[in-house]
Amino acid sequence: MPYPENNYVKFLGVAAAKPRLLVVDDQPINIQVMHQIFAANYQVFMATDGAQALNFCRTTPPDLVLLDIVMPGMDGFEVCAALKADPSTRDISVIFVTAHTDAAQETRGLELGAVDFISKPVNPAVVRARVHTQLTLKFQSDLLRKLVFLDGLTGVFNRRYFDQQLAIEIARSARAQSPLALVMIDVDFFKRYNDYYGHQAGDDCLCTVAQTLKACLRRPADLVARYGGEEFACILPDTAYRDAMVLAQDLEQAVRNNAICHAASDVTNVVTISLGVACHTGPTPTQAATLLALADAQLYQAKHAGRARALGAELT
Ligand code: GH3
Ligand code: MG
Ligand code: MG
Repeated sequence: MPYPENNYVKFLGVAAAKPRLLVVDDQPINIQVMHQIFAANYQVFMATDGAQALNFCRTTPPDLVLLDIVMPGMDGFEVCAALKADPSTRDISVIFVTAHTDAAQETRGLELGAVDFISKPVNPAVVRARVHTQLTLKFQSDLLRKLVFLDGLTGVFNRRYFDQQLAIEIARSARAQSPLALVMIDVDFFKRYNDYYGHQAGDDCLCTVAQTLKACLRRPADLVARYGGEEFACILPDTAYRDAMVLAQDLEQAVRNNAICHAASDVTNVVTISLGVACHTGPTPTQAATLLALADAQLYQAKHAGRARALGAELT
């Protein structure tokens, strides 16, 4: 096989599922041809008009779209423009597949954000090679995009991603008039942990704490990030104050249950965390700084009240 389509999947360490291709063409015979070319190595989906294609991309995004230009209703250019205008679909690669190519059309397609142009009737080897190239590039850039937002030590999201998501979630909660909770988390007596067990053990401890926190979050929209040093933060969209407090207590318990020895802690003989919760529920819009300051103040109170606990406040 000249193009081992699944090699980049292994190389990049992404889920070893077959890449997802969407073929959009108003002529079923053209879809069938593409299906024959790709079915062995890809999951091939099909749409026979632009609206169907957009709907598919928004609900179950493919990795790449093979897009016909001339279609009744919405043409391929319009579909491509709509995909690129929507943040949830703009990272899907688009290759135009079309019977009559001229330079002007090709330029227009590339300017709209398509990555390649293939002319019909397609040559199976050529179309396979081009799809393979584009998917390799796509998976590489997906991976880089992801790495930019991950903390190198613990593997949870980093501060950059946290700040970005907090701004997005504050805007969303204002629009939807839904509550938004923020949890600030700090490891107790961590300086002493490092002094007693060494910095490497300290790093291992931070990784375990991070993964424990992550495993406690249940909703897809919840996130945990490393906020800095031995501090973590959770964003809990659409979560009421009482539910946020219950989760914060679960987080405290989960870290304690890891039973990582901490002989130098004044709290108990295992690693513990203190948590500060801030929940915005009122109709007046809030700001990231306000919510962060409130959660921080609650964390400070939790530290002074004896550590290894969660305290919270509601912002109405
Ligand atoms: P408190 O209970 O009041 O939070 O006390 P603490 O000792 O945890 O707080 P302090 O802020 O005094 O110390 C935090 C320590 O966390 C100091 C720093 O060396 C350590 N730390 C920060 N980032 C890392 C890291 O990436 N790895 C390791 N091993 N230690 C870190
Ligand atoms: Mg700290
Ligand atoms: Mg600390």
